[in-house]
Amino acid sequence: MYPLNRLSQIAPQKAKQFFNMGITSVEELAEFFPRKYYDFRTVTPIKNLVAGEIAVVYGKVIRMLVGKSTNTLVIQDADGDCMNITWFHTDYLFKQFRIGEWSYFAGKVSEFQLNWVICNPVMVSKEADNILRIYPIYSKVKGMSDTYLRESIEAAINFLELNQNEPQKDLLAKNLMLIGCIDALREVHAPTSRERYKKARTRVAFETIYHFYAALKAKESLILASEIGPLSESAVTERFINTGLPFALTTGQASVVATIMEEVKAGRRLHSIVSGDVGCGKTVVAIITSVLMAENGFQTAVIAPMLVLAKQHYEEFARMTAGVRIFGRELRIALLTGETRKSERNKIQKQLERQEIDVLIGTHAILSGDIKFSRLGMTIIDEEHKFGVAQKAELEGYDRAGIHHLAMTATPIPRSMAMTIYGGNVAVLPIQTKPKGRKETITRQCFKVEDAFAVIRSEIHMGHQAYIVCPFIETSKDEKFKEVISVAQAEHMLNRFIQSNPGFNPRVKLISGDMKSEEILSNVNLFETGQADILISTSIVEVGVNIPNATTICIMSAGRFGLAALHQLRGRVGRNSLQGYCLLYEQQKNEKLDILCSTTNGFEIAEKDLELRGPGDLMGSRQTGINEIIDLMMARPKLTALVRKALF
Ligand code: ADP
Ligand code: MG
Repeated sequence: MYPLNRLSQIAPQKAKQFFNMGITSVEELAEFFPRKYYDFRTVTPIKNLVAGEIAVVYGKVIRMLVGKSTNTLVIQDADGDCMNITWFHTDYLFKQFRIGEWSYFAGKVSEFQLNWVICNPVMVSKEADNILRIYPIYSKVKGMSDTYLRESIEAAINFLELNQNEPQKDLLAKNLMLIGCIDALREVHAPTSRERYKKARTRVAFETIYHFYAALKAKESLILASEIGPLSESAVTERFINTGLPFALTTGQASVVATIMEEVKAGRRLHSIVSGDVGCGKTVVAIITSVLMAENGFQTAVIAPMLVLAKQHYEEFARMTAGVRIFGRELRIALLTGETRKSERNKIQKQLERQEIDVLIGTHAILSGDIKFSRLGMTIIDEEHKFGVAQKAELEGYDRAGIHHLAMTATPIPRSMAMTIYGGNVAVLPIQTKPKGRKETITRQCFKVEDAFAVIRSEIHMGHQAYIVCPFIETSKDEKFKEVISVAQAEHMLNRFIQSNPGFNPRVKLISGDMKSEEILSNVNLFETGQADILISTSIVEVGVNIPNATTICIMSAGRFGLAALHQLRGRVGRNSLQGYCLLYEQQKNEKLDILCSTTNGFEIAEKDLELRGPGDLMGSRQTGINEIIDLMMARPKLTALVRKALF
């Protein structure tokens, strides 16, 4: 990197102000990106203003009012409508105006005594060219004017343009069809169009990811030797894939499986994350991997964050691998959770030691000290990000043992990733395909709960099932949560609907936070086996649960959930060829819900989520911290994989 003093125009005292912001190099300055943007491209007539929105108005000064601490211009636009422009505690801009002058004013509109007002406008200009554009807003550099900051950034970019010295990086970017680095920097600082801006962000993200991996590569090799040694057998697994599965693998699944096989056969330590959208079929990858380990004489531990999920995995593993034979016997699978009785637990313990169990599936109960494997070769962690911090430490213990490690995730979560990537070496294996014949889940916001229930009614009449999910919030007197619908309230609302809909008599089961696990499991089981039509629950079903006949999910107080959680919940339906419905019950319009209704693509949602959080967010830059980098990488798994592949 070039030290900041290479820019002759930056005086030492200004360099110090930059230093206080963590900017010490030309590159860091060039990547000091706007915190947010205002779109000032169109003028709004005063009569169309909306309180709380950012707008540009164009008007003629008709009065100038000097108050004790405020200075106000009264302006009138071409339609003859009037409003105020007010400055607090400053008269420097105000004084530049004369009655009768026309000017543009941009800023946040509010209402004051039935009159529109823009207080302390963000931008004022008499020239259209100066103002009618996308306007970047920077974090304040203490002691520095905005103009000085902008000019310095421009100087930094100009300098870099003349001094580009990373040909390998630029060649890779070119191969990935990304736009030029300097163009991208300029676009991010002064966007010209949405499309170009998006491309620029991708390029900037590329820079961050590239530099991250380049640094990592300089430090250590990503390929660690496994203590397991090369595995030689794969015939059983291959036969299982080709003739034992009820379906053909998707290309995404097949390529991840191929990578896994390649790694373990070569004796390299597998330490990877299978990342794929909800419903892409990650479980079967875990199943195949377990079979592969078993036919090589190694045990696999499959750990899920929730009891319901562990149990479901156990059943799915058992069902799918029925008929798989290794060493002249059946594959042996066992389930171990916190619910497992002591005697059963002891038995499992003995069997593990005698290597009479090939695959142990369970919750974090597997991690506790007295559970020992005789030949553990692989841990598979499903929905890894759902594990608590304490359990993470235990997982790490298994991790360090030099055995293979596979994590599965549908959601980008920074903390866990940061640990694994930073501490060790992790490869992301993306599954970008969905099984054939899936229909897009129809998603819509329902402002009236009856509208949602009506869909449930018609789906149940067709023999399908439905989830009703409520946000999980401990009984709380907090005002904020007053309007959040609880499981009990949802049941009440449903009952009212049932009463006014003769002929609609669904069998309803409930799961709430205060229930015992036994009761929860038994209710889920009734739903799973088709003995209940509706399951009302907290977001316990969010992760992983797979009940393909459930076609509808109705999410109560949907605005309370985060976008990622909503997407996960929606993933509970549309898990086979049946049409799925996701109904978001929320009385207020909500941007998150609009996004969810507009797309079912998880990566797109992650991207929109980032946009919602502010465009300056998560683009990456030299100052970006490790967590943000991981977040960024998870938001752009495709790009990350490509860069990583190119570098390692
Ligand atoms: P997730 O990636 O969300 O964990 P699952 O592994 O639970 O998804 O798979 C979702 C559903 O898709 C399951 O019912 C599974 O049996 C089915 N499935 C997985 N792979 C395929 C495939 N290649 N073809 C058809 N169905 C598949
Ligand atoms: Mg899953």
